[in-house]
Amino acid sequence: MADSSQTMERREQTFPRLTPAQLERVTAYGRRRAVPEGEVLFRQGDEAVNFYVLLRGEMDIIRPDETAGETLVVRHVAGEFTGETNMLSGRRSLVTARMVGDGELVEISPAGLRQLVVTDSELSELLMRAFILRRVALISRHLGDVVLVGSRHDGGTLRIAEFLTRNAHPHTYLDVERDEGARTIVDRFHLRPEDIPVLICRSTRVLKAPSNAEVAECLGFNASIETEKVRDVVVVGAGPAGLSAAVYAASEGLDVLVLEANAPGGQAGSSSKIENYLGFPTGISGQALAGRAFTQAQKFGADVAIARTARGLDCRATPYALELDDGSRVRARAVVIASGARYRKLDVPNLAHFENAGVYYGATFVEAQLCEGEEVVVVGGGNSAGQAAVYLSGIARHVHLLVRAGGLADTMSRYLIRRIEESPAITLRTRTEIVGLNGNGALDSLQWRNTATGQVEDQPVRHVFCMMGATPNTTWLGDCVKLDEKGFVKTGQDLLPEELTGTGWPLTRPPMLLETSRPGIFAVGDVRAGNVKRVASAVGEGSISIQLVHRVLAALTPV
Ligand SMILES: Cc1cc2nc3c(=O)[nH]c(=O)nc-3n(C[C@H](O)[C@H](O)[C@H](O)COP(=O)(O)OP(=O)(O)OC[C@H]3O[C@@H](n4cnc5c(N)ncnc54)[C@H](O)[C@@H]3O)c2cc1C
Repeated sequence: MADSSQTMERREQTFPRLTPAQLERVTAYGRRRAVPEGEVLFRQGDEAVNFYVLLRGEMDIIRPDETAGETLVVRHVAGEFTGETNMLSGRRSLVTARMVGDGELVEISPAGLRQLVVTDSELSELLMRAFILRRVALISRHLGDVVLVGSRHDGGTLRIAEFLTRNAHPHTYLDVERDEGARTIVDRFHLRPEDIPVLICRSTRVLKAPSNAEVAECLGFNASIETEKVRDVVVVGAGPAGLSAAVYAASEGLDVLVLEANAPGGQAGSSSKIENYLGFPTGISGQALAGRAFTQAQKFGADVAIARTARGLDCRATPYALELDDGSRVRARAVVIASGARYRKLDVPNLAHFENAGVYYGATFVEAQLCEGEEVVVVGGGNSAGQAAVYLSGIARHVHLLVRAGGLADTMSRYLIRRIEESPAITLRTRTEIVGLNGNGALDSLQWRNTATGQVEDQPVRHVFCMMGATPNTTWLGDCVKLDEKGFVKTGQDLLPEELTGTGWPLTRPPMLLETSRPGIFAVGDVRAGNVKRVASAVGEGSISIQLVHRVLAALTPV
């Protein structure tokens, strides 16, 4: 009984019907028009589609598929509206909308919809909730515009599956070794084993072993983003710090572009459960937190470019210019460096052969699926390693937690140490390091060594999760800003007078809090020297940086 009433409630939140008063308010943002039976309002693959509220008649939302035929996603009735999270980003539509009989609707442009969600808080809440729930439903029903054909033993397949999952893009996965459907596709498109992984976009374009940037291009992730104009602020990195900066900048009227090399969420996105972030007493997965923040940034109009890496920073003149991996440049009056950090790698010569094919840098649902019922190794003594060990102990047969130190007390929170000590499925192996990885294509076994005794042991372990201390992502900064001896960006009062003179600080005022040795360039989150490596501090610094960006922009504006 409780279950069915919850299902009903979820259905009502996903497909709410607007009241007459709400319909009247919505109409003010668009125009009413009659529509004949069979009119297609938008098709899968269309960009920047309009938003429709049905006043009379019925409308089918369909996922077209050349091979399998149409799938009815939902039939809208009067009072309901179209759209899911793509409505806010202007990305290509995942579905097609077609009138069932004659009807009447309100048609609202993407700009009109954005205005509606930032001005009408009641409708904003209702629409945002429905958009997010619809995206969740598309993901769980695998109703997307893309099919990934690959192998669970292939690193490239895992990389793309992770990229799609972390970008919350619904997709169908077909495994060449397990799914009959995969074989049909292999025959139809004349695919060879070396073509794997293959991505099929909208049943038409076939990408063989694509890069993440090629996947993003095929799915139109960045299609609506303009790169020519000078932005108020460009944020580099869409981890918690960068997404926070984007939300505050966009909600305060700044023209903001975020560049993200991979997918929103950063390191936090690879966490199975964050338990110490304020306001989430039962914890929240990094992916869910990132998804919410990403949608929030888009609601306020921030542009977030996915799979676009900042390769260089030209700080010789203002506006500053950022060089992207495809050779193009974007310009900005202020820059927020939020490029975070990444895990150190294992010191094993053939590591590259096994990355994503047995060696992973995140412990989310995607990787966990691969090691159900198997023995796994987690390397690292910090909270992220502890979290991964606890999470994986519920899925794997046994978890070996390897640390170089003599214990965990100096590096891990007490609550995680207790859970590890109490779990029969986790063995802590102190003073132990991995010294060898073996396998042909995918990891088959490894050797670990006890550094106290020198003893080396062979282990038939096929999955290693590396969660060792992090190094900052700062090589792209060249010599624009002062770094500390470990490569983290120095800011504010940490910058010594001689360092400022050395980098040519041109102003009479000293750098503000979070400001680097270059005026108008700020650093926030894990990439910043002295930052507490936590989600909360990254989010806090991201929001503070925007206050300071306002001051920089005000100083540039002639009075
Ligand atoms: C597995 C795991 C679990 C964790 N659990 C917790 C926890 O429970 N609680 C907690 O408080 N903290 C936790 N942390 C730490 C927390 O995730 C980090 O402190 C936080 O993510 C830092 O945010 P950030 O935005 O500064 O950097 P990051 O999260 O590192 O994000 C940086 C982003 O910048 C992008 N980027 C890098 N270089 C470029 C470039 N040149 N161009 C464009 N984009 C670029 C990266 O792809 C990345 O998305 C955990 C970390 C991990 C890895």
